[in-house]
Parts: sequence; structure tokens; C-alpha cells
Amino acid sequence: EYKGMSKERMMEIRRQNCNPMTMKITYYKKPVFIHQGHMQWLWDVDGRRYLDLFAGVATVGVGHCHPKVTAAAEQQMKRLWHTTNIYVYPPLHEYCEKLASYLPDPLKVVYLTNSGSEANDLAMLMARLHTGNFDIITFNGSYHGGSSQTMGLTSNSPYKYPVPTGSGCTNTMCPDVFRGPWGGSHCRDSPVQTTRECSCSQGHCMANEQYLRQLKETFATSVPSRIAAFFAEPIQGMGGAVQYPKNYLKEAYKLVRERGGLCIADEVQTGFGRTGSHFWGFQGHGIVPDMVTMAKGIGNGFPIGAVVTTPEIASSFVKAFHFNTFGGNAMACAVGSSVLDTIKEDGTQQNSLHVGTYLMTELAKLRDKYEIIGDVRGKGLQIGVEMVKDKTFRVQPPMCITKEDVDFFVAVFNKAIHSYMARK
Ligand code: PMP
Repeated sequence: EYKGMSKERMMEIRRQNCNPMTMKITYYKKPVFIHQGHMQWLWDVDGRRYLDLFAGVATVGVGHCHPKVTAAAEQQMKRLWHTTNIYVYPPLHEYCEKLASYLPDPLKVVYLTNSGSEANDLAMLMARLHTGNFDIITFNGSYHGGSSQTMGLTSNSPYKYPVPTGSGCTNTMCPDVFRGPWGGSHCRDSPVQTTRECSCSQGHCMANEQYLRQLKETFATSVPSRIAAFFAEPIQGMGGAVQYPKNYLKEAYKLVRERGGLCIADEVQTGFGRTGSHFWGFQGHGIVPDMVTMAKGIGNGFPIGAVVTTPEIASSFVKAFHFNTFGGNAMACAVGSSVLDTIKEDGTQQNSLHVGTYLMTELAKLRDKYEIIGDVRGKGLQIGVEMVKDKTFRVQPPMCITKEDVDFFVAVFNKAIHSYMARK
């Protein structure tokens, strides 16, 4: 039972002492006062239970306060929280070895940070030092961070400020198969396809070719002939679970490498089993990046970020002393290690595949019923529902949700849309 501060007092403090943006960003009419979490559930201060379908923007992967992860954190907390990583302490080494074992060769060198922005900052720096080139390309609609460097990568206007940020970053057309001019929705890797067809011939995706032409146009007009890197999320997260034609990234990687650039997969949202079919989103595209950046699901809510790269690229990064006080602290490593074990033991990746596919199939039925739903897409539990006269609705629950939870959600969602349509 909650016996803390009153709701009114919290709102007063929020108005006076908290980042004013927290008053602006409210996707709800009545604020939700969250007190506690367990697995896929959250409880408010009045004891009302909520099914959490957003998981702190896909951050809580194995479940809120998962008992195994909590126990691992508790154990480590009693032993050692932090020491400088100049010293050799077991959790760091156990974790780096374990995390690297989840990546294909030659991705074996792990750098630990505290957030996704920090990880992408580091990846930008390493790519530039390794290649000796400066220019970096990302997709329109992408989100790669809010630091001054990564804000340049991010191409999503609500997150941009009118200050000089991340120079040398060029945004190129996102091969968005639902919104884009050439369609191609049935060429995306999702259990749900739409009517925005692609003019394919003999298994050849024509939309893919057109989107790639746009990338070539960017190479020809907006950057020097040699570039440092290309950043892409395997499925755009903040952009609205946007998917590309199946072979796009594979072809794009070739074009980038021909120009001396490194290919960087931002797995902050898509990693750690969320897309169901694979542990990493890039594996669904049949590619091996030169660097992978991670955060969110890596710590199930604990602040951790990481860059994993090749020994060759890492060797270019020893010209100066790279230091991060908390990156790789003992607590983060113990939590990260336990998250990896829990994903395996609880089968959350498989659950993501099965329950996610079921959820998308059910949502597709609502799409067929209501005009307002333009598209249902995604993979596993990285799902977007595009409301055609409104914003994209994103579904990214903890990966422990069940079929019964899906039925409950779909019924509630159906009811909400139904009453919205009736009011119009
Ligand atoms: N990359 C992606 C794909 C993200 O979604 C985010 C956060 N929304 C980030 C990077 C930045 O992560 P952080 O907020 O931990 O800095």
C-alpha cells in the first residue's frame, strides 16, 4: 500500500522543480502516478494495476523488477558498487566476455557506457578516427541520441535544438515502405503486410531500387567521396517502428563500404531479442555491422550502454585516453550479465516472436475494421500502429507478456477506437 506523498504535491513539485518538458509531454489527459512494477505490470499509487505495453520505451525487456535480475543486483550491491576500471574486477570481465559471445565475429571488443547517446557518441568518434573521414549518414526519422554530437545524427525535429550540433552529419531519405513514394510494404520483414504494394518483378523489389537510388543521390550530392559511417536502426524506434524493404540495408552497407565508411547498427531498441526472430535486429537483415551500439533493454531499466566493435577498429582508438567513470561499473555489469541469462532462461526472445506475431495479427484485424488505422507493422514486440490522421501508436511491452495480455489489450484498444470514432 502506498503511503507516500500526495498526487497533488507531486504535481506541484513537478511544475516547480522538475524539467518543464515533463509537463509538456503528456500523452494522457489524466497523469498516471506509478508506484511499483512487476514483470509486465505497473501499479499506481491507488493500487490500480496497468498492463505496461510501452516498457519505458522498450527499455524493460525481461520484466519490471524481474526477480532474477533484482537478486543479481542485490548481491552485487552488497559486494562492490564501483571502482575505477583501471583495476581488474570480476563482473566487468565476466560481462564483456558474455556480451561479446552474443555477437558474430569479428565483433568482439566491448566498450561500456551509461546510455545510448553516449554509446553513439563514442561510435561516431571511433568511426572518424578509424577511417580518417568525417561525414556520417543517417536516415530521416531516426533517433540516435540527444547529446550535442548525436543530435546531429538524429533526424526527428522535436528532438533538435537551433544550435550547432554534430556537424558532418547528413540525413538521407528513409526507405519507409508505408509512407515513402514507392511503397513496398509487402517487401518488408513483418508478419503483417499492407496494400501499399511494390511493383516487383520476378522477386526483384523495385521500391528497394528506388530507395537505394536516393541514397546514391545523397552520396553524389551531399557528402565527400569518402565517408566515416552510416548509422541505421534495424527498425526505426522513435520514428514509429518504420521498416525498410528486406534487402535495403544489405545493399546500403555495400555502397557505404565502397566509400570507405563503417556500418553501424543502432540496436538500442531492437536488440536483446525484441524483434523475436533474432537476438539482434541486424541479423534479420542478413548483415554484419562494423559496430553495434546498445542501451535500453541491455540493462532492463538499469542505465547501461555499449559499443561492440572489431579489434581492428578498436586499435585505432588508442591515440588518446578514453575514460568513462561509470561505464562498466560493477553494478551495471552484474545487472547486464543477469539480463542476458534471464533472456535465455525465460525464453523472452521466443516469446517476443510468438506473442508479437499473434499481437500483430490481431491488430491487423482492427486495421481492416477501422479507417483510422493505416498500417500495422514491425517484428516481434517492436510494433507500430500508424493512425492515419494522428500519430503512430507504438507497442513495445516487456517481452514476458502473454497471449491473454494481448487479448485484453486488443479488446481495450478496439473499445477506445470505437468510442473515438463514435464521438467524431
Ligand atoms: N538510439 C535509439 C534507437 C534510441 O531509441 C535512443 C533513445 N530513445 C537512443 C539511441 C538514445 O539513448 P539514451 O536515451 O539512453 O541516450
